[in-house]
Amino acid sequence: MAKLFLEVVTPEDALVSQEVDMVTAPGTEGEFGVLPGHVLFLSGIMPGELRYTDGSERGSLFVTAGFAEVSNDRVSVLVDAAENSTEIDVGRAKLAIERARERLEQERGKEDVDFRRAEAALQRALMRLKLAEKARL
Ligand code: ATP
Repeated sequence: MAKLFLEVVTPEDALVSQEVDMVTAPGTEGEFGVLPGHVLFLSGIMPGELRYTDGSERGSLFVTAGFAEVSNDRVSVLVDAAENSTEIDVGRAKLAIERARERLEQERGKEDVDFRRAEAALQRALMRLKLAEKARL
């Protein structure tokens, strides 16, 4: 059966580099799925869950913002940060939620850079928590 080659890379690490059957990723225009034979495709990536299957193996990663390219049955995902859902540190995500909420409270009413940064940090931490909980089911 035809396969895809999936690479998920951050500036620090290559988290995934393997053949897979299918990939689903959080694109900036909405979630997209890739099967072998997909046409050339470029998309921004927003914080969310990237899933893949390889036979009976299922993978789930949290990815932050970045970029994806699908070309010649190769899916290359380049993001600022990513973790396997099973490796998410729940305590760290909870602390990040608290910090972001405090900052949002302080910056309330100001639609400035710090407010948007705190909002983005909160979204990342909430998503990490959600994926960590899902991975534990
Ligand atoms: P924090 O404030 O806790 O650093 P953050 O959202 O600012 O959270 P990122 O900038 O997205 O963190 O990521 C920085 C690095 O820390 C990356 O390598 C990322 O994989 C890792 N990381 C962040 N939060 C967690 C977590 N809860 N569990 C595991 N790794 C994490």
